[in-house]
Amino acid sequence: MSTAPIQPLTAELQALDAAHYLHPFTDHQALAAKGARVITHAEGIYIWDSEGQRLLDAMSGLWCVNAGYGRRELADAAHAQMLKLPYYNSFFQTTHETAVRLAARLAELAPPVEGRRFEHVFYANSGSEANDTNLRLVRRYWDLLGQPQRKTVISRHNAYHGSTVAAASLSGMGAMHAQGDLPIPGIVHIDQPHFAQHGQPGESAHDFGLRAARWLEDKILELGPERVAAFIGEPVQGAGGVIIPPASYWPEVQRIVELYGILLISDEVICAFGRLGHWFAYEKFGMRPDLVTFAKGVTSGYVPLGGTLVGERVARVLIERGGEFNHGYTYSGHPVACAVALANLDLLQREDLPGRVRLDTGPYLAQRLAELEAHPLVGRAESCGLVAALTLLRDKAQGLPFPEEQAVGMVCRAHCFGGGLVMRAVGDRMIIAPPLVITRAQIDELMGLIVRALDATL
Ligand code: PLP
Repeated sequence: MSTAPIQPLTAELQALDAAHYLHPFTDHQALAAKGARVITHAEGIYIWDSEGQRLLDAMSGLWCVNAGYGRRELADAAHAQMLKLPYYNSFFQTTHETAVRLAARLAELAPPVEGRRFEHVFYANSGSEANDTNLRLVRRYWDLLGQPQRKTVISRHNAYHGSTVAAASLSGMGAMHAQGDLPIPGIVHIDQPHFAQHGQPGESAHDFGLRAARWLEDKILELGPERVAAFIGEPVQGAGGVIIPPASYWPEVQRIVELYGILLISDEVICAFGRLGHWFAYEKFGMRPDLVTFAKGVTSGYVPLGGTLVGERVARVLIERGGEFNHGYTYSGHPVACAVALANLDLLQREDLPGRVRLDTGPYLAQRLAELEAHPLVGRAESCGLVAALTLLRDKAQGLPFPEEQAVGMVCRAHCFGGGLVMRAVGDRMIIAPPLVITRAQIDELMGLIVRALDATL
């Protein structure tokens, strides 16, 4: 621990922070004990704090800075749009250029489902709002089709779909549900396809994937198919700890939702825009969703923007039979956010970051992480594109986890911070999701920092 006096800027901002700022997902007593780390600037894959420490940001902020920090063209796009048209809405029979061009661009980038493109986009400002929109859309869809009893949405335990009331209900986080009587009625959860947690002795990953998908069918039959509106899932569960399903899972889910005529929502707030090596993850997993939630990487986090791609099945009913859809946000399709998104998509495309993740940095990260399985603390290293998780075990030979009260993930995370690395801890899983611009040499640097943090945790 350094005993050097802290910088005046740090002291001032920490005092103001403690006095005035209620942080998201934060225990303020614990924060007060040590003071918030003040982040001052960033470049590429690195961030700096007010004490002058440089950290390799292996979490891309909150899984969002896909293009890396300091991209001038995104700032220029925001600046130009603010001068030209800083705000207008698209509520009352008006529209504006950047929202229109972005919708068309997303329609072009999203791979067709059974030959049909995602022709429509509904804008929100965040992933949470976009999932609230999805809940309203699926219920509206079934109402318009004369099946108003189809209200229930099935989600999964340990899913993360956001933190507004509806999105927190769709999420499957017990700690969130415990605060505020969630989930709201009409949202139920099944288990997640987590092989290490739910696989049976001798069961193959393939068979487990099929079995896990059939929990959905069991739930549909328990509820009555005529009452089920939709199933929502992240292709790879992110905030729940990077749970990568076996390859057999999503095709079987797809078969089941089609058998019962249920809508499928692919929540790609983390997984889209190159994170898994594709523009959209449903392509990778053989999913044919009706709605696709996006946010984060669409602007690389430079400004808030979220939304949902609306497939033809839902869009046609909404447009042809729906009249006015009484839903929207003041900042739906915000001109500046859409301008930044367009510049960001140009950049991702020009540098072919999805292709680079798929063919180069994703496989290289997987190879380097596999070497970490030789470390005495690392039970498993799993990755998909540029998201990864290391599971820490107390006793590898016997597969024994650390006792929960030891909070080994938090201990390791603190050693990461101390050593100049940002990784996130979800229980005893250490999470990695670096900006997509990371190079092989920087992945080598990341590995060195991880090993140092793991050694310090031992
Ligand atoms: N959906 C997924 C899969 C997410 O990972 C998140 C955020 O991490 C959200 C939705 C919520 O997005 P936001 O925080 O922008 O509301």
